[in-house]
Amino acid sequence: MARLEIQNLVKRYGDFHAVRDVSLSIADGEFLVLLGPSGCGKTTTLRMVAGFIEPTAGHVLLGGQDVTQLPPWKRNAGMVFQSYALFPHLTVAQNVAFGLEMRKIPRADIGKRVEEVLALVRLDGYGGRLPRQLSGGQQQRVALARALAIRPDVLLLDEPLSNLDAKLRQEVRVEIRELQRQLGLTTVMVTHDQEEALTMADRLVVMSEGEVRQVGSQRDLYERPANRFVAGFVGRSTFLDGTIGTPGHFRTSGGLELKCTGDKTGPAVLSLRPERVEIGLVPLEGLDNRLSGTVEFVSYLGSLIDIHVRLSPADRLVVQIANREGGFSPDVGQPVHVGWPLSAGQVFTT
Ligand code: ATP
Repeated sequence: MARLEIQNLVKRYGDFHAVRDVSLSIADGEFLVLLGPSGCGKTTTLRMVAGFIEPTAGHVLLGGQDVTQLPPWKRNAGMVFQSYALFPHLTVAQNVAFGLEMRKIPRADIGKRVEEVLALVRLDGYGGRLPRQLSGGQQQRVALARALAIRPDVLLLDEPLSNLDAKLRQEVRVEIRELQRQLGLTTVMVTHDQEEALTMADRLVVMSEGEVRQVGSQRDLYERPANRFVAGFVGRSTFLDGTIGTPGHFRTSGGLELKCTGDKTGPAVLSLRPERVEIGLVPLEGLDNRLSGTVEFVSYLGSLIDIHVRLSPADRLVVQIANREGGFSPDVGQPVHVGWPLSAGQVFTT
C-alpha cells in the first residue's frame, strides 16, 4: 500500500483555485518532488498534507489512515520549512525536542532521541547553542533533525535548500538524499529549481496553475513530455507553431513543410530539443527533416554553444552543440544547414 495517498485535493480562496483536484500516490521509501513555477500550488499541496492548511475538498491518507481532519501534531509527518522556522530563543536541543514534547514522548526518551538525531545530521555537540550561533547550513540541519526526531511516516520538505548558497546547496542535496535512503524515508519535496528536482527525485510531479501536468521519472518528462508546458519547463525546447493538414505533415506558420510523428491534425506546435538538432555547413544526409537557414545569434555557454538559426521570417530554432577543439564554430550571418530525425520532434495540438 502507498505510504501517502493524496486524493482529489482542492484548495480554493474565494473564487481562486490554488489547487485543483490533485491526486498522487507516494510509495514507501520514495522521494517525490513537486516541481513547478512560483504560484502553481505546490506549497499549498504540501501544507495540506502536513495539516497546516485545511483543504476545501479531498483527502490525505498516511499509512492507510485518513488524517485530513487531524491537526499537524497528530499526523506523523515531519516538515522542514523554507525559512527553517527554528525557535530563536530555544537551544538546538530544545528545538529538536519540540515535536517530541508535543507528542508527549516520555522525558527520558526525549534526551536520547535528540542526541541520536543530532548525530545523524552531524551536529553532535551543538545541542546547547542557539540558532543564531549557527551557520545557515547548520540551521538547515537542525530543522531537518527536528523533522526526523518524531520518526515520521513521511518527510515533507518545502524548498529546504533555497536559503543556502549555491555550493552548499549542492552538498546538502546529496546529504539529504543519502539520509533519506539510509532511513528509507518516504519524502515529498517542493522546489521550483529544475536541477534540484532532477538530481534528487525518484519521481517528479510537474504542476502549473494548481494542476498536475505530468508525473514521471526524469527520463519520462524529458523524452516524452505530455504537453507543451512540460516540454518547456523540463529541459529546453524550441517551439515552432503551425498546422497539421494530414497526419505526419507539419506546416509551420512561416510555410516550411516538415515531417512529424503522430496521427493528430489541426493547429499544433512542434517541440524540438536543441541538442537533438544537427547543424553543418553542407546539406545533412540521412535525416527526416532537412532545412537551410542563417545563423542569427550565437551564445557561448562554456562547454556548450547555443546557435539560433533563422529558417524563415516566422521560424527560428535553437541548436545546441558541444564546444570542442576544432569543432563547428559558427559566425552570425553564416548560411547553415540543419536537420533532425523524426524522433527528435514532438507535436502537441493546440
Ligand atoms: P512558490 O514557489 O512561490 O512558493 P507555490 O507553487 O508554492 O509557489 P503556493 O504557495 O502553493 O504556490 O500558492 C498557490 C497560489 O495560491 C498562489 O497564486 C498564491 O498567491 C495563492 N495563495 C496562497 N495562499 C493564499 C491565501 N491565504 N489567500 C489567497 N491566495 C493564496
